[in-house]
Amino acid sequence: MLLGPPGAGKGTQGARLAQRVQLEHVSTGDLFRTAVKNGTPAGVRAESYLRSGQLVPDQVVLQVIEEYLASVGRRDICFDGFPRTYNQAATLDDLLAQFGLDVTAAIHISVPDQEALRRLLLRGRSDDTEETARYRLQVYRQDTAPLIDYYGAAGALAEVDGTGRTDEVAARVWRAVRQSLT
Ligand code: AMP
Repeated sequence: MLLGPPGAGKGTQGARLAQRVQLEHVSTGDLFRTAVKNGTPAGVRAESYLRSGQLVPDQVVLQVIEEYLASVGRRDICFDGFPRTYNQAATLDDLLAQFGLDVTAAIHISVPDQEALRRLLLRGRSDDTEETARYRLQVYRQDTAPLIDYYGAAGALAEVDGTGRTDEVAARVWRAVRQSLT
């Protein structure tokens, strides 16, 4: 899984990694954006949270993940943007155990806030206004950053410097994945 603030490059690096190895790259943000567009029940519940930059309630997120895990045939998954709360991480551990899986690596891609903000404003997604982007960074610090210690304690954490060119970061991510597999 890829951990890190909005703007760290999780989506870009997840896609790169999935090209390099046989992996199912799943971004919960993308799942929700698709659900909102298609007007599914989860999409209807998630819409206002996405727009304001708040976290979608755990219950909704976990239902989407559970359906996804039950439907996916491939067993090697790169989660991007999930888990984002302690409760999501603990529930994921239970779910993975049910499916006989575990977390190979939690790759923490770190970038300074200023750099994350700069990238978000360049990207210009509809939830990337300066106000929402700043708020999402704050939500990250409060709710998601504690997971770095959670996966550290589980012995699954790999630290990657997310600054620099995309291919430099991709090389660091790749090195972290390889080390986690040995
Ligand atoms: P992202 O594409 O990862 O930046 O996610 C965009 C938005 O989707 C977030 O600001 C949240 O509103 C929602 N979201 C995505 N993943 C999660 C998650 N694991 N838990 C709660 N909300 C999420």
